[in-house]
Amino acid sequence: MTEPSIFTRILNGEIPGEILADTDRVFAIRDIAPQAPVHLLVIPKTQEYRDVTELAAGDPELLAEMVAVAKDLATEHADGEFRLIFNTGAGAGQTVFHVHAHLLAGGLDEKSLGA
Ligand code: 5GP
Repeated sequence: MTEPSIFTRILNGEIPGEILADTDRVFAIRDIAPQAPVHLLVIPKTQEYRDVTELAAGDPELLAEMVAVAKDLATEHADGEFRLIFNTGAGAGQTVFHVHAHLLAGGLDEKSLGA
């Protein structure tokens, strides 16, 4: 059986982390190392998809739900405008292989591109 990811462990309450959004299939937390004034992680509850390419192929509706949750969070925590970043592959900076979107918002500049 696959080990629970760090995000699954936060969702299950095994590791502390404030849950900022919680729908049937998606949740959100603050990134522990923020790269922007608002830096949240939007995460499917399932860890069956390693990255956004697997998710898009396997469950596009779940990907769309992540985008909808991101929009709501950007409105709640900033002015509604945001960047959504999916690091895909270790060479692109992905360190957790449970697909997640970095939601960056609130006074962004070019430097906030790298999450
Ligand atoms: P990746 O590098 O895979 O695109 O993104 C993983 C993100 O998870 C990183 O930005 C990192 O700061 C964040 N992260 C890693 N461990 C924890 C943790 O225990 N709690 C929270 N809230 N974020 C974490």
